[in-house]
Amino acid sequence: MIPGAPDRTRMSDDCIFCSIVAGDIPARTVYETDDVLAFLDANPLARGHTLVIPKSHARHVGDLGSELASAVFDAVAELTPRIQEAVDADAANVGINDGEAAGQEIPHVHAHVVPRFEGDGGSPIHAVAGRRPDLSDEELDAVADEIADATGA
Ligand SMILES: [Zn+2]
Repeated sequence: MIPGAPDRTRMSDDCIFCSIVAGDIPARTVYETDDVLAFLDANPLARGHTLVIPKSHARHVGDLGSELASAVFDAVAELTPRIQEAVDADAANVGINDGEAAGQEIPHVHAHVVPRFEGDGGSPIHAVAGRRPDLSDEELDAVADEIADATGA
C-alpha cells in the first residue's frame, strides 16, 4: 500500500464521503489525521459549517467501534473551538443525524459542527425533534429501565 493512500478495503464504493477520503471528489479539507477527516459542508447552514468523519466507512454511530468513536469525538472537541475562533462565532451546535428518520442523507457517519452567532435566528438542537411526548414519571422510569436493560447497565 502506498503510504498515505486510503485503505480501499474499508471503503464503500458508492459513498460520497469515502470518495472524498480517497480524493476522488474534491472537498475543502480543514483537518486530517490518520483516522479522521474534516471538511466544509458543501451546503453550509452557517459560515464555517464543518463535517467531521471517520475515514473508514461506518453507516451508524453504533458501527464506529470504540477507537474510531474516540478519534471522531476527539477531533470534534479539538476543532469546535478552533472553528468558532476562525469564523468569529459566538457558539456552535454539534450534532449527528443517525439514520434516515433522523435526517441522515449520506450513509457515512458525520458530525456537524455548526458555528452560531448571536441573533442568527437559529434554534437549539432541541428543535430537531418533532412533537414532544408528554411522559409521566412512571413512563420515564420505564423508559430509563428499558434503555438500562438494553445497555446492560
Ligand atoms: Zn463511506
